[in-house]
Amino acid sequence: MKYVFGPVPSRRLGQSLGIDTIPLKTCNWNCVYCQLGRSVPLTNTRREYFPRKDILTEVGEALATHMSGEIDWVTFVGSGEPLLHSSMGWLIREVKALTNLPVAVITNGSLLYLPEVRQELLAADVVLPTLDAGNPTLYRKINRPHPDITFERLVDGLIDFRKEYQGKLWVEVMLVDGLNDTTQALWESAKILQSIKPEAVHINLPTRPPAEEWVKPPHPESLMQAMAILGYTAEVVHPAEGSFDLSGYDNPVDAIISIITRHPMRQDQLERTLECWSPKQANQVLADLEASGKAQIVERYGVRFWSAAPAHYPDKDQSHRTIPNVKTG
Ligand code: SF4
Repeated sequence: MKYVFGPVPSRRLGQSLGIDTIPLKTCNWNCVYCQLGRSVPLTNTRREYFPRKDILTEVGEALATHMSGEIDWVTFVGSGEPLLHSSMGWLIREVKALTNLPVAVITNGSLLYLPEVRQELLAADVVLPTLDAGNPTLYRKINRPHPDITFERLVDGLIDFRKEYQGKLWVEVMLVDGLNDTTQALWESAKILQSIKPEAVHINLPTRPPAEEWVKPPHPESLMQAMAILGYTAEVVHPAEGSFDLSGYDNPVDAIISIITRHPMRQDQLERTLECWSPKQANQVLADLEASGKAQIVERYGVRFWSAAPAHYPDKDQSHRTIPNVKTG
């Protein structure tokens, strides 16, 4: 599978079948916390990065190989900003015609200032855009956007979309220690959230490997303050701990690469995912993973994460490719 991955566990969306419509790190933001490394270069061109019919064919195949109850949501999410694919409206409508499962779109929300993008999203059941900052300076510091994506455009787009969209709007706020978790920054974000009026505000923490090594999650007291200031709809979303599905691939290495290209995995998560194999087989899978040259290990917070080899983390000397022994079985 090239465009579809999982299902992967998601705290908000249960077992989520992911659809990735764009190549790795095709994005108009370059967030300091991005788990996929830096966006090099920034891209703000909407086009058909992959043929839409090929994407849809894979979605149909993936849905056919899973029993009822194995997938909770079909989610457009992936290795960059999905709305940069110019056929998102068509894809959402066609996926909804294929299945009764609800469809979610995880986006940075930066293109919602465009009327045609807002129109394309109307068929989705839930849209999850991002708002990390309540002023332009902090926005540029955290999200490091393409010059065309101004703070005013981002906020106006979110407010306009809320007025037009009948589905659920869940805004995500990634809190970074010392940046947007101060009292003033939180009140500024709260003010804008009040004008957007989402059904929910999801506070996320940078728990997967951030692009910039200095990015840290907020302290517990800052988190409590964020919950209090961002309003009654705000909740902290911790990463889900369910299992990753490696079916749908001819070999487990391809399956793992497919997942870590979109969701870098902690070493222990990878070990758990390989528990269905014997320790010898699991170690062979990891050896094959390294030999493929398509994976790298990135260390953050004293934890090892497996990520796709092309992902660009600036502290390359701290990213290395060793094969620790796996304890499974
Ligand atoms: S976190 Fe999302 S919006 Fe930010 S750079 Fe990464 S892919 Fe782009």
